Amino acid sequence: MEQIRRLKGMKDLLPPASGRRSILEDRAREAAGTYGYSEIRTPILEAAELYVRGVGESTDIVEKETYTFEDRGGRLVTLRPEGTAGVVRAYLEENMHAAGLPVKVFYLQPAFRSENPQAGRYRQHTQFGVELLGAADALADVEVILLARTFLSRVGFGRVTVTLNSLGCSDCRPRYREALLAYYRGVDGLCATCRERREKNPLRLLDCKEPGCCAFKTGAPEREKFLCAACADHQNRVEDLLTAQGVVWRPDKNLVRGLDYYTRTVFEIVDEGLGAQNTVCGGGRYDRLVETLGGRPTPAVGFGLGLERLQEALEKKGVVPAAPAPELLVAHRGETAAAALQLAEKARRAGIRTELELLGRSLKSQLKYADKLGIRTVAILGEDEAARGTVTVRDLVVGEQREMRRENLEQLWQTIREQEGSN
Ligand code: ATP
Ligand code: MG
Repeated sequence: MEQIRRLKGMKDLLPPASGRRSILEDRAREAAGTYGYSEIRTPILEAAELYVRGVGESTDIVEKETYTFEDRGGRLVTLRPEGTAGVVRAYLEENMHAAGLPVKVFYLQPAFRSENPQAGRYRQHTQFGVELLGAADALADVEVILLARTFLSRVGFGRVTVTLNSLGCSDCRPRYREALLAYYRGVDGLCATCRERREKNPLRLLDCKEPGCCAFKTGAPEREKFLCAACADHQNRVEDLLTAQGVVWRPDKNLVRGLDYYTRTVFEIVDEGLGAQNTVCGGGRYDRLVETLGGRPTPAVGFGLGLERLQEALEKKGVVPAAPAPELLVAHRGETAAAALQLAEKARRAGIRTELELLGRSLKSQLKYADKLGIRTVAILGEDEAARGTVTVRDLVVGEQREMRRENLEQLWQTIREQEGSN
């Protein structure tokens, strides 16, 4: 029969890479915990309207990337393309502010975008994201950036450079928007997408990657000149606090990011080794989103970090932590399977990562198998050992073996633990 293939742009994550991914996820949970963020899990499927309103109609995501379809009840639904809108919906619907502000949550979850598949761009990817709701001060912006830096440094990413911009607020952005619009109305040779977006959302033109459009960015009005005093002050505080924490950052006046909801701070963390899709982490402040989704004005800030891109970057640097190998193989031959199973279970109860021979192979093959898996200790249970109440323990590194009584297993576990500790 014909084989069924996975969908274009989707990936299978197999061992051992999946084990390395789990470690990244563990580190993400730990880093979030260190900063006092709790996990949130929202549905993968939401009303399409959430993203139209929450992410913005004239964004790449909503215009051309969402998986949107009618469910059986005729309702228009969308597979989650990003994490923030769902978190804010839950924040409002579940009255999360009632427990007191700030609300600090993180998530590790898949996101779906029907983009053109290419290196670093898949139709399903995984985001580690955090959202901090209820804090307007620059300290909050800096906290989430530091959280991202802490996580990245714990997984061996190396030096983190943050690119930074301010998009202003609802007071000063309109003037900037007008100036951009006036400028872009006067230029000729924009790509079709930019021509379409110009009137609705001229800021998005600064995000276009078409070489022809990039050339126009240099002459575009400088955003700094339009920031109101409060936004300029906020931005200066963010910059000063980052500098004081030793964060390497540089201003990027064309950084607008793919979502409409940002106000004031936007930032990205880029990996120089990754090629075209090199943004590992993107985030910013979104003080208007809660209102847009029907709540009271609530300041908020957060980021989303793509784990696939991060893992690729770490793999290129050769620093992805490996998942721990098994420590013990219980080998057996003859009619000793039940006793071997018993022994393996004892080891597992003692917390030793244990493999049990399941294929009835020759002892030689079993030893080869242990070697292949990187297992140092093999406990051999043949019929002789079974009769004598012993087990033969072989150390594949030293190349020696000894027979020990099965009452003394605690000793063996201890040796294995010590070897693991000294690795
Ligand atoms: P890009 O400019 O690369 O398209 P974006 O602005 O669409 O990114 P965000 O919405 O900010 O990205 O998502 C946060 C992070 O999620 C990105 O920095 C990236 O690491 C990751 N990411 C986004 N889209 C994809 C994708 N299609 N495949 C893999 N990772 C992705
Ligand atoms: Mg994108």
